[in-house]
Amino acid sequence: MRYSQLLLPTLKETPAEAEVISHKLLLRAGFIRKLTSGVYSYLPLGLAAIRKVEKIVREEMGNGGAQEVLLPMVQPADLWIESGRWEKYGPELLRFKDRHDRESCLGPTHEEVITDLVRREIHSYRGLPLNLYQIQTKFRDEIRPRFGLMRGREFIMKDGYSFDATEEEANKTYETMHYAYHRVFTRCGLKFRAVEADTGTIGGSFSHEFMVLADTGEDTLVICKKCTYAANMEKAAAMPPAPPVQEPALLPLEKRETPGKRKVEAVTEFLAISPRNLVKTMVYLADGKPVAVLVRGDHEVQPVKLKNALGAMEVELADDKQVFDATGVPTGYLGPIGLNIRVVADREVAVLRNFVVGANEKNFHCLNANLGRDFEVEKIADLRMVTAEDRCPVCGAELELTRGIEVGHIFKLGTSYSEALNAKFLDSEGKEQHFIMGCYGIGVSRTVAAAIEQNHDKDGIIFPLPLAPFQVILLNLSPNDEAITGAAEELYRAFRKEGVEVLLDDRDERPGSKFKDADLIGIPYRVMVGKSFANQGLIEIRNRATGETTSLPFGEVVAGVAATIRAALAAVGG
Ligand SMILES: [Zn+2]
Repeated sequence: MRYSQLLLPTLKETPAEAEVISHKLLLRAGFIRKLTSGVYSYLPLGLAAIRKVEKIVREEMGNGGAQEVLLPMVQPADLWIESGRWEKYGPELLRFKDRHDRESCLGPTHEEVITDLVRREIHSYRGLPLNLYQIQTKFRDEIRPRFGLMRGREFIMKDGYSFDATEEEANKTYETMHYAYHRVFTRCGLKFRAVEADTGTIGGSFSHEFMVLADTGEDTLVICKKCTYAANMEKAAAMPPAPPVQEPALLPLEKRETPGKRKVEAVTEFLAISPRNLVKTMVYLADGKPVAVLVRGDHEVQPVKLKNALGAMEVELADDKQVFDATGVPTGYLGPIGLNIRVVADREVAVLRNFVVGANEKNFHCLNANLGRDFEVEKIADLRMVTAEDRCPVCGAELELTRGIEVGHIFKLGTSYSEALNAKFLDSEGKEQHFIMGCYGIGVSRTVAAAIEQNHDKDGIIFPLPLAPFQVILLNLSPNDEAITGAAEELYRAFRKEGVEVLLDDRDERPGSKFKDADLIGIPYRVMVGKSFANQGLIEIRNRATGETTSLPFGEVVAGVAATIRAALAAVGG
């Protein structure tokens, strides 16, 4: 491809609408343009990067035994009513009526459509296992679409669905998909982790999120410094606390005036104790009903863990007024002793002795409180956020908190959809069974954005080689010089003959602006035909990621660069 003919409208300034780095760079590099809120046109280079992700996804899905289909984007309401999601799904589901007044929606996901297809076509265990996927444009009517391709309303996704006859086979399919996802993101050249995700009410360890590591990521991850343990904050567990080695004597409960001291820091400073020796009482509304949650002063409640422990649909932190209405105690002085609402405790609290709690009276706290002697709790569970001081629950090594961007999610669904849609098959004994399903998503356009969030510098994008729209950008630095232009054209032909994806910058521009654009669009190898060719017959090659520049004699450039590319792709299993 020749730059002079390419629709590649790079910008010098960052458009005001962009907040995150990938959005800024995708606009500046001329990869996307906004049509309307959360909806983008993909220009040639943006689409080329997306196609790279798609190609890897297709190959690895195929290796995992999945078959590609393409399902309709427009879906009839009937199926969603049947599954119960027409009611449950919020305004993110874009609903409309066609000319015959039939209700429809734009698919944000395809569980209903695929389950309907399979229940019509597969009637026997002999047709199983079946694993189908598509790469499709999805629509989710986000209230505040932001961040470009990171969270648009329209986006390109790979979504796959598996159907199995037995739990054992379903688990095997899940493992196969887990491996396929591992391959996909490795081959994309991305640093990532598969993290255990919360499965809500379904339970079990059958959900993993694939997170691209990036400081700008919106999710916090907990990863082990030693083993492969990784989890998001909602799921992350620490090593369970050990009971005290030597049981200390339980000291007598003592009420102490703590005038105006409401916050943990203020109370612990006033009493000259560590926050580890204080237990704070947080009030949450679980499905609207107040419940007090006890955690150590240096810990925070993890709402999803609390929700799961209580079996609630929804939990939210109560505000000061709700706390006072429920308990009659002003916030800051709440404690479990004699409290009139349900109380649950984090498991760290259960191993504490002689700790400080609020006295349920303004300006007072209690010293030497003890669970079991001074108060009881309804439940003891892991209810808190893991911290960097915690230890890996698997191997005991140090944990690290880091940030990531979710690009893939695999989920063992079980029979929830096949039951809702009455999708059944006859098993080997002739008995009717519901299909056991799994679903597997990859945000294709989002993966490109995540790759940029992970790989960029002040000058622009630094594409991982496997996702780069072109592998080489060949700069003709003197388009008006016949010898240089002749050499650049010869290299261009030779690269293409060698199967290297090359963009020839043949524009009549100054070298400085060609360098800037090359850096901005992030092509991994920059090959320059200029002065050193004219003087010494040498061609300079610059690595976008490392900034290293090497020189090769004209005749060795194509073979040398092609070999480097092959080796780099082989290194990530490409
Ligand atoms: Zn570990």
